[in-house]
Amino acid sequence: MATLTFLGAAREVTGSCHLLESPALGQVILDCGMHQGGDATERIKQDNFQFDPAALNAVILSHAHLDHSGLLPKLVNRGFTGLIYCTTATRDLLRIMLYDALGLYEKDLERDNMKRKRRGEEPEQAEYTEQDVEQVFRQCLTQRYRKPVAISENTTLTFHDAGHILGSAIVELDLVEDSTTKKLVFSGDLGKRNSILMNDPEELSAADVVLMESTYGNREHRNEGDTLQELQQILSDTWQRHGNVFIPSFAVGRAQELIFYLGELHQQGLLDDWKIFLDSPMAIEVTKVYDNWLQILDHDDVKKLTQTHRSSLEGFLPSLNLCVTPEESMAINKIESGALVIAGSGMCTGGRIRHHFKHRIWHSNNTIIFVGFQANGTLGRILVNGVKKIRMFGEEFAVKADIQTLGGFSAHAGQKGLIDWISRFKSAQHRILVHGEEDAMQALAEKLAQEHDIHCRMPFQGERFKF
Ligand SMILES: [Zn+2]
Ligand SMILES: [Zn+2]
Repeated sequence: MATLTFLGAAREVTGSCHLLESPALGQVILDCGMHQGGDATERIKQDNFQFDPAALNAVILSHAHLDHSGLLPKLVNRGFTGLIYCTTATRDLLRIMLYDALGLYEKDLERDNMKRKRRGEEPEQAEYTEQDVEQVFRQCLTQRYRKPVAISENTTLTFHDAGHILGSAIVELDLVEDSTTKKLVFSGDLGKRNSILMNDPEELSAADVVLMESTYGNREHRNEGDTLQELQQILSDTWQRHGNVFIPSFAVGRAQELIFYLGELHQQGLLDDWKIFLDSPMAIEVTKVYDNWLQILDHDDVKKLTQTHRSSLEGFLPSLNLCVTPEESMAINKIESGALVIAGSGMCTGGRIRHHFKHRIWHSNNTIIFVGFQANGTLGRILVNGVKKIRMFGEEFAVKADIQTLGGFSAHAGQKGLIDWISRFKSAQHRILVHGEEDAMQALAEKLAQEHDIHCRMPFQGERFKF
């Protein structure tokens, strides 16, 4: 008998972590993600493991996003010494993300401890340190897609391309117990089909138990052709009125897609003479990793790109400037018009984008374009909702810039993609939905039950399931 315990991303989107126990492989976890939203240092402190990290044999990591990987350093700190299985590209991205997260964590903790000191309290100890981050990479064992590997005498692991971000994987596990094989498939985060920089998610059909994400279980995305046209129109309008454009963007995946789209517009002669800036040291690092991996992508446009532009996204968009230092970022403020800036953070909760807003949001010539999911309570969501005034840096700003939202650039499958993917598992005995908020998950489960006669479990946090 094998048991799955859902420890995160159960009726919520973040904190992906599922404990799998079986005589065939002992204890392993699928993902080791952190919860996101609210105070970061508090969150890392409160995310405690509901198992003994020292007793764990392995971690199987679906992809590098922090809501799937962010607690790995804490896990190592608490005594985990086993292997972390992931794809090679995931390890490359993880290196950037975990060090970036460490930097932010240390800065926040230092600030909080200063406040404690002034109140006469003892400082908090860090939940993990740089040594733990380094140790994570010593425990990573990288795998290729579609190449089965024995992770115990009775268990085989195979990664398949999930098409979500670079290196993202669908996890397939074959467990042999009492001479019968049980197959578990975990979708990780599933990408969209026909996505510009990613392959399509692989379609599997055999499994006894399927775990699938359901982030956009209640929504369909606009198609990319329409979205690209919309982007071109917004840029052209802003150019006409001598404005500047600011695009808050996530560093992994989204920023690279934007460069690619802008490159396409440029190659087709549809882009005015914009001075384009990638104003995010992390996104610049990630773009280098993407450049190294472009050759494994199968999209026709990417093939064209790699043949003609020296395998680099920057080569595809010659007017792209990379801003690493704060001085390079601040120099953009002096440009009167024609600057197009991609900067973090994606939901405007921090990062350089807020400094650009400070200088530009109160001017009606400018445009802000939202290209990703904006969670409740973030500055991004507030702006999308259409407020006329915001507060930042202890100051009030009038929102006069044009606020636009483009819906077609998601890295997740929409409702139809999810239904198509799970429908292929004809003989599965159990289908389980994870990684979705209540509304999205319920809507997807209802549609699957009513229109496809497919019935899914929706476990709560901490629930156990035997198979
Ligand atoms: Zn993800
Ligand atoms: Zn996720």
